[in-house]
Amino acid sequence: MRILLVEDDTNLGDAVRDHLVARGHAVDCAATLEDGRELLRAIDYGLVLLDLGLPDGSGMDLLRALRGRSDWRPVIILTAHDQISDRIEGLQAGADDYLVKPFDLGELDARLQAVARRASDRPDPEYRFGAVTLCPADHRATREGREVTLTAREWAILERLLRRPGAVIGRAQIEEALYAFGAEVESNALEVYVSRIRKKLGNDLIGTLRGIGYRIQG
Ligand code: CA
Repeated sequence: MRILLVEDDTNLGDAVRDHLVARGHAVDCAATLEDGRELLRAIDYGLVLLDLGLPDGSGMDLLRALRGRSDWRPVIILTAHDQISDRIEGLQAGADDYLVKPFDLGELDARLQAVARRASDRPDPEYRFGAVTLCPADHRATREGREVTLTAREWAILERLLRRPGAVIGRAQIEEALYAFGAEVESNALEVYVSRIRKKLGNDLIGTLRGIGYRIQG
């Protein structure tokens, strides 16, 4: 799993990272809220470990921002022993679990597994944007209520974009969705797929930012 660790205590951060890497996870570390936000914009993490007391603000702001844009990826908050109210607030704000520092690395493993398992049991959300809906559970796409047939690759690209409507999604990130099919991605493949999606679902749905990426636009 690709994990983002937002933690400004470098000793703790290094220990957690080394432990998780040894367990086969890929881990990126951010020591500030701003770095955490930036990494979240760039990379599609499977889980976030989030310290609350960060130099440039509270991890709670990051958590609220995620949930506010219907981003339900699992978040485990890391709190100090004396911050019970923070834990409650974190859970209310949509954290999946919390760990109290100092925590045992074995406990971290157990929580991580439990949270990841629950997340994979969650039904996929339905994505809606304007007249377009995408329902991953039964793999149905509709435009103005009429069913539209998308190929697996078109579907993968559109789903990646619809997870974060309005946000610019970089080419590399979208291409990642294509690599999952095991094929080489040719340099103009993305343009081709995007133009097919536009034909099926409307020209205005996907905006192009030349050389940067694409976004779902209203
Ligand atoms: Ca801290």
